[in-house]
Amino acid sequence: MTQEKSTLGRNDLCWCRSGKKYKKCHLNRNLQKKNNPWSAVESNKKEFHKKKCCAENGAFGPCEGKIVKAHTVSRGSNLTKIAKKSKVMSYNTNISKINKNGGQLIASEIGIGVASTFYGFCSQHDRTLFSCIENEDFIGRPDQCIAIAYRSLSRELYGKDAASHLRETLRDADKGDTITEQVTFQSILDLNHEGNEAARAELKKTHDILTNALANGCVNTLQSMIIKFDNELPFMFAGAWSPFTDLHGKKLQSGYANQLLEQIFISSFASLRSSYICISWVNIENAPGSIIAKQICELPGNKQAEIILQYAVKHIENVFYAPSWFEDLSFLQRRQLDKLAASGIDILGSVPDDDIHFGLGFLLPTTTQVFHSTDVPSTEKREMNE
Ligand SMILES: [Zn+2]
Ligand SMILES: [Zn+2]
Repeated sequence: MTQEKSTLGRNDLCWCRSGKKYKKCHLNRNLQKKNNPWSAVESNKKEFHKKKCCAENGAFGPCEGKIVKAHTVSRGSNLTKIAKKSKVMSYNTNISKINKNGGQLIASEIGIGVASTFYGFCSQHDRTLFSCIENEDFIGRPDQCIAIAYRSLSRELYGKDAASHLRETLRDADKGDTITEQVTFQSILDLNHEGNEAARAELKKTHDILTNALANGCVNTLQSMIIKFDNELPFMFAGAWSPFTDLHGKKLQSGYANQLLEQIFISSFASLRSSYICISWVNIENAPGSIIAKQICELPGNKQAEIILQYAVKHIENVFYAPSWFEDLSFLQRRQLDKLAASGIDILGSVPDDDIHFGLGFLLPTTTQVFHSTDVPSTEKREMNE
């Protein structure tokens, strides 16, 4: 980019460092037809269909069988519970859908068989690692909390691996822009790429920690706060991210390029009579996740579910609503959720800045109990007693 553009010959390497010749890249780009902005989202999604096992590093033994569509939110016990005719509602970032809705991100119905899946585990690892949450009721056992955190984090890491191709995918998204705009755009791409690589590194670090915890049964590696409800929650979600700010928007960690950020893990579960929200963090001093969990704890019991829901919608993609509940929301309630969801899907990875609405009631169940996973007997002890 330091090279003077006007001195570039047609066969020189392009100033944007794509590695292509100038004539095949930025020459006359200002005269080219603009791309649809959502087409970048779409191309990036293709990367999300790459098949690879996130547990292939050996700690869990060799991979076996095909790479399967792994669920991020458990299908059997959870999605089925909130579904109507095997469908749930979620935000569809498909380009044609968004275009049809006039550029708006709107929740629509999706079959539970395809909801929240990614090609991230071989059938052997998918079966063995997640049996404790897929085939058993969630009760907040440490091994269950680690398994769901591991799966959410694997999906995020898989996403960052996919997004590492984004810079090349978006190289020509500045068609029709002025030269100044092109230079700005290409430097944003570079910055974004650096950010993604940093995020990959920090997620990889935590992934290694959780891999070790899961493989060796180190139940204290992860701390989890579990919120129990005696009624059904009309939504399901699972995700992990590195929070920059707390529940009230105050800075938690700064995200400088040389700092490896800590993550928070949030997921929900439904069992026969109860629902749960599980919030986890790697057990270090002043972990951002522990600060957020404490803030949630301090909220009135009848507000906790709705604040966590908004927090989740703002930061994670895998949020699913019960159709009957979602359809009954008021205009203001629905607009708030839609706004939070849209703020979270910025393809260039900026931090979502729409705020959680503390005053807007969603009439969700009141918390009946808050406990920590360490209060629940671990699976080893349970099996020994059986
Ligand atoms: Zn170029
Ligand atoms: Zn595998």
